[in-house]
Amino acid sequence: MVVGGGNAAIDAARTALRLGASSVTVAYRRTRAEMPAYREEVEEAEREGVKFQFLAAPVELVLEKGKLAAVKMQRMGLGDFDRTGRRKPVADPNGEFVMPADQLIAAVGQALQPNEIFNGVSLKLNEREFIAVNPVNGQASEEWVFAGGDAVSGPSSVIEAIAAGEKAASGMHAFLAGKGEIPWHAPRTVDTFFDPDADPVVGPGPG
Ligand SMILES: Cc1cc2nc3c(=O)[nH]c(=O)nc-3n(C[C@H](O)[C@H](O)[C@H](O)COP(=O)(O)OP(=O)(O)OC[C@H]3O[C@@H](n4cnc5c(N)ncnc54)[C@H](O)[C@@H]3O)c2cc1C
Repeated sequence: MVVGGGNAAIDAARTALRLGASSVTVAYRRTRAEMPAYREEVEEAEREGVKFQFLAAPVELVLEKGKLAAVKMQRMGLGDFDRTGRRKPVADPNGEFVMPADQLIAAVGQALQPNEIFNGVSLKLNEREFIAVNPVNGQASEEWVFAGGDAVSGPSSVIEAIAAGEKAASGMHAFLAGKGEIPWHAPRTVDTFFDPDADPVVGPGPG
């Protein structure tokens, strides 16, 4: 069983199937319409054989001889809209049911464990409990620490992490060598047949 409704949950489910799991079910507490995963990913997962259990949230692991045997699930319904614009999952009084499972993968978000990575250095965190940095150069609250990627933004994407790495590299270079210009960041004049800085003008309407 994979718990979650995002792209990471779908990746985990498809990978589990490909690694030989006989059956994989993604359990999500809302419905298919609210899943944050890309629609095509969900469809591909389904085509590959992943099953879905919507409106269900795990409440208890059922162990047999110390091993997972099943997961007690709570049926959910949808309530009012929350600030993400999705309807809030609310426990359904129709109760609980049990789903057999011998492995459970939680794909319900990521959090930073500052004590494990900061090694005794005290760094400020932002309001989401990730590392607070200067967005221009990735410098953290200790001037010799630079950070970027998921540890700063929370779960994001490879390209965002690479961009943050480049910014931080430039910031570190400036910190150590006094200048931080990355050659490909230097402004270039682009040769166009139009003036890219000109104000927009109203063109002829349709018809
Ligand atoms: C299942 C899944 C699927 C994803 N699919 C996509 C996708 O298709 N496209 C996309 O763009 N993004 C995807 N992402 C997001 C993407 O993986 C991340 O945004 C990206 O990897 C962030 O890069 P990062 O360098 O910040 O962190 P990471 O890639 O997480 O790298 C952090 C590294 O630090 C190491 N580390 C942790 N603690 C310590 C420590 N104390 N000491 C030393 N090393 C440590 C970790 O082992 C890890 O190697 C996916 C994420 C997941 C979980």
